[in-house]
Amino acid sequence: MASLPRVTVWNEFRHERHREDIRKVYPNGIHTVIGEHLKQQGFPVTYATLDEPEHGLAGEVLESTDVLIWWGHGAHNEVRDDVVDRIQKRVLSGMGFIPLHSSHYSKPFRRLMGTSCSLTWREIGERERVWTIARNHPITEGIGEYFEIPHQEMYGEPFDIPAPDTLVFISWFQGGEVFRSGCCFERGRGKIFYFSAGHETLPVYYQPEVLRVISNAVKWAAPLGWEACPTPSSQIKGGHRTEPLEPVAPSE
Ligand code: ZN
Repeated sequence: MASLPRVTVWNEFRHERHREDIRKVYPNGIHTVIGEHLKQQGFPVTYATLDEPEHGLAGEVLESTDVLIWWGHGAHNEVRDDVVDRIQKRVLSGMGFIPLHSSHYSKPFRRLMGTSCSLTWREIGERERVWTIARNHPITEGIGEYFEIPHQEMYGEPFDIPAPDTLVFISWFQGGEVFRSGCCFERGRGKIFYFSAGHETLPVYYQPEVLRVISNAVKWAAPLGWEACPTPSSQIKGGHRTEPLEPVAPSE
């Protein structure tokens, strides 16, 4: 893809409006902190939130989205199933999808994984050390051997997901747990990256390493433009490849 991918940053956007302690950390919403960083990198960014009509994700919005970033926490069940259907369909046809932190329980992620996506957690603001496992993976570019998040909610194993296609990061927490904190999956033509960093009461999304991982992931997850190079329709009719690519002599 010649130009930078078009990103839609979706946020539940309830905590920041209803809780003063969270508004202090993210006055305009978590989505805008992530989005402004991406805009500075040159990405075209659109915002969408739960309480907009169709959660801000009408068909034409998704059709013009290359990568969808998702942040949800307390209102997963309010996300309409027909919108989840639409997201799944777009991922299968190539849209990238990046669920963050508590979005492990979001409807679109669970739909795409097919498992409960449950995990263990504890909220005492302990230190997280995020270890790079997949060195040389585009999502780890510029990150180094590890980075630390000084105060974070603990997410721990067991994490009920299918085995990732690529395990990019494993986190260690001060209290002793470990967690698969950066996981790549492919579904159809779509690429998915779950990244656990971030919590609504902590300034994790201002941290440069976290923002770097997210912008790296957007580039990685962007579709490669297969739609633009279809197989000639003369060769395939409804999945039936009528003509062999090479002449085949009838067997004798
Ligand atoms: Zn959290």
